Amino acid sequence: MKQAVLHAPLDLKVEDNDIPTLESGDVLLRVESALVCGTDVRIYEGRKKRNVSYPTVMGHEFSATVADSAGPLPAELSLGDLVCVYPLLPCGECVACTRDHPNICRNRIAFGYQLPGGFSQLVRVPAAAVRAGNVVPVGGISPGAAAIVEPLACAYNGQRLASARDAQTMLVSGCGPLGLMHIRLAKQLGVQRIVAVDPIPERRVTAEASGADLTLAPGDDTARQVLDWTGGAGIDVLVMAVGRTDALHPYLSALAPGARVSVFAGFSGEGTALEIPANDIHYNEWTVVGASSCRLDDFREVAAMVRSGALQVDDLVGTQVPIDDVVDAIELAASGRDMRVGVAPWA
Ligand SMILES: [Zn+2]
Ligand SMILES: [Zn+2]
Repeated sequence: MKQAVLHAPLDLKVEDNDIPTLESGDVLLRVESALVCGTDVRIYEGRKKRNVSYPTVMGHEFSATVADSAGPLPAELSLGDLVCVYPLLPCGECVACTRDHPNICRNRIAFGYQLPGGFSQLVRVPAAAVRAGNVVPVGGISPGAAAIVEPLACAYNGQRLASARDAQTMLVSGCGPLGLMHIRLAKQLGVQRIVAVDPIPERRVTAEASGADLTLAPGDDTARQVLDWTGGAGIDVLVMAVGRTDALHPYLSALAPGARVSVFAGFSGEGTALEIPANDIHYNEWTVVGASSCRLDDFREVAAMVRSGALQVDDLVGTQVPIDDVVDAIELAASGRDMRVGVAPWA
């Protein structure tokens, strides 16, 4: 089977490897759609080292069909089913796990990291992940939409942690695929008014089509425009959907009392700092919340939303590049010019 193996930063080779052998309880999946996350770009370029060891098969956003199993399948699965895969297997025992943050478990293993991920024709799901419920059936939707469930669940996790349900107004800073997912989710969660900021005009058009009530290009006057648009009340939740400090800094003056800032996107520079005047946080009772990956219950909830048609995501799937040209796929994803770029393992 074909598999894209990363041996070191920038050393990514497509290889013909053996089909994984299954042990009792394991499931074999035929990958139907694998998407390139910004994290994969950073791993490929060597800008992300955390949790990465070599060689590795990237791809933690993928959908597949159930191809084989060693022993009986769980009741909710049958051979041939379209599934999406929750990529994390937390330890269940560490501080993060026992305090309800299993998604940031320091001992976790994950598809696309320690476990070979979706940039491959076939993926073995170990019995422990099958038992934990990581393989989620999603019949009736496209393979691309099924693969989008993972990043969408990450956005959902971020919105939950930022108490988005209680927000009247939200500012989404950055309208790449993840920013657009935030806008669509926020609408579902009942956020009344959403403003989206992005320098690229086409993205602002898509942001509007996704449900943004106002879209703006970042500029000297943007924060004032945002504040005026809220009638002076300010923004309840700001989502940083791009890993840049200027996704936040220019808008501090537009935040409401009690506002939440979601530091959603990862940053390339490990030492990057956000600068928020301490007294602004103090007197305004602001909250800064992180968000990393998602929990299994988020993932299953979002899978159900996509499956029911409540969330339309097919247009968020961008160019699907044959696996032989996997480096082109990563470079296209890195360019930020496309929607969610994919690696097509069978093309
Ligand atoms: Zn991702
Ligand atoms: Zn743990």
